[in-house]
Amino acid sequence: MITYDQLFIGGQWTAPASPGRIEVRSPHDGSLVGHAAEATTADVDRAVAAARTAFEKGPWPRMTPEQRQEVVARFDELHLARATEIAQLITAENGSPYWFTSMLQIAVSGQTQGYLQGAREMAWEERRPATGGGETVVRHEPVGVVAAVIPWNAPHQSALAKLIPALLAGCTVVLKPSPETALDGLLLGEIFAEAGFPEGVVSIVPGGREIGAHLVSHPDVDKIAFTGSTGAGRAIAGAAAESFKRITLELGGKSAAIVLEDADLDAVMTGLKYSSFGNNAEACIAHTRILAPRSRYEEVVAAVAALAESLTVGDPSDPETFIGPMVRADQAERIRSYIQLGIKEGARLVTGGLDVPEGLEGGHYVQPSVFADVDNSMRIAREEIFGPVLVVIPFDDEDEALRIANDSPYGLGGAVWTADREHGLEIARRVRTGTFQVNGAALDMQAPFGGFKASGLGREFGGAGLRHYTELKAIAI
Ligand code: NAD
Repeated sequence: MITYDQLFIGGQWTAPASPGRIEVRSPHDGSLVGHAAEATTADVDRAVAAARTAFEKGPWPRMTPEQRQEVVARFDELHLARATEIAQLITAENGSPYWFTSMLQIAVSGQTQGYLQGAREMAWEERRPATGGGETVVRHEPVGVVAAVIPWNAPHQSALAKLIPALLAGCTVVLKPSPETALDGLLLGEIFAEAGFPEGVVSIVPGGREIGAHLVSHPDVDKIAFTGSTGAGRAIAGAAAESFKRITLELGGKSAAIVLEDADLDAVMTGLKYSSFGNNAEACIAHTRILAPRSRYEEVVAAVAALAESLTVGDPSDPETFIGPMVRADQAERIRSYIQLGIKEGARLVTGGLDVPEGLEGGHYVQPSVFADVDNSMRIAREEIFGPVLVVIPFDDEDEALRIANDSPYGLGGAVWTADREHGLEIARRVRTGTFQVNGAALDMQAPFGGFKASGLGREFGGAGLRHYTELKAIAI
């Protein structure tokens, strides 16, 4: 049992304004994981005030980029040293399988290192000859007070994708974690405190949507960095427009994996295991539409179904488990309602279904499910399900495959599988998504990450991500 009865406000552990607390229960068996202090709007106001003061008067924005990099590098070391403990906690809170959380907590350090590299390479202040004579000084200045709002599915990865670049740029930050993962959110406070950030620079205020909405509409916030659903992203973009707050949005996806005629199906299935079903398929980037050539359609359908059936579903803390429970009962119910919808829409359910897997009735479990004979206009092919439900869609030729891949409101990720890697690259150039993988090549956590269309705005990771936390200033001298 883990208890955080204080919030982390302005770098200090502080009692919340009211005694409300968040109860975090295991999605596996309902047991109590811990309690966390719940932030109120008054706590958010205190956190933003601390961030504002630290930004206006504190040392952090005035330190050199190199001095800030040193503190961030110390944070990364301390964070990495606690990777196993944090992975276990996240698995207990949200049901992400341990194989995934343990891998991701290490990878997050690579993400931080990518930002550090971007900070070292950035020309923070450049002096150049001006066209009309004289000189211009071009500066990257911190954007100000940053509100970071994140979901529960990969909490430290998405929190640090925002906090690290914000801090390297000299911003001050208020993080609002989801209630489901409030404990690991507050644990971050321990590491920020130990790393030695000055007073006021970092605050962590877990709470629900209302707390998020209050934070992002706060007049003293200059920038919103959000990961979550496209619906919430739209609401946030609307609210931000009023005062021209800067925004970056990482939203939903419905990514397509295109299997070409010449693909090696064994390799495809090894890849889809991770890219389609990784993290319980509670992943924005999951490849949930499998596009298969009509000539090999039944072969692909059978292989995807066999893959789904081969996955071990169960206790997420067991390293042998591949798929754990969904985060909440209503989320599992929502996924089942999509399975029902697929049947109603006339798709063929090849494996999986509505029954809770045997012996796992005490948790929020769903069966990995695969639909065939799916038309891309069906809702199960268009809407983000955020759970282990795949659709297999046939195509006649590559042009049709590309048309289907691009016929989506989303544009986050995707893949092509082919014996000809260079041809795969040609296909990749024609897909309207922010990331793309040829033959399952791993995504680089230092390369720009983000979405086209309704999948988001702006990019995270590396130098490209860092720039979203700066304002450019040109000074003519
Ligand atoms: P959600 O949008 O319901 O909530 C995300 C966060 O935003 C939570 O902290 C929530 O409290 C807060 N929130 C919700 N409405 C808000 C509002 N109007 N104003 C301010 N804050 C608000 O999403 P979720 O169900 O927690 O997470 C799943 C979603 O996140 C999926 O759609 C998934 O695709 C997306 N996601 C995207 C990425 C990416 O990088 N593109 C990564 C992970 C998850």
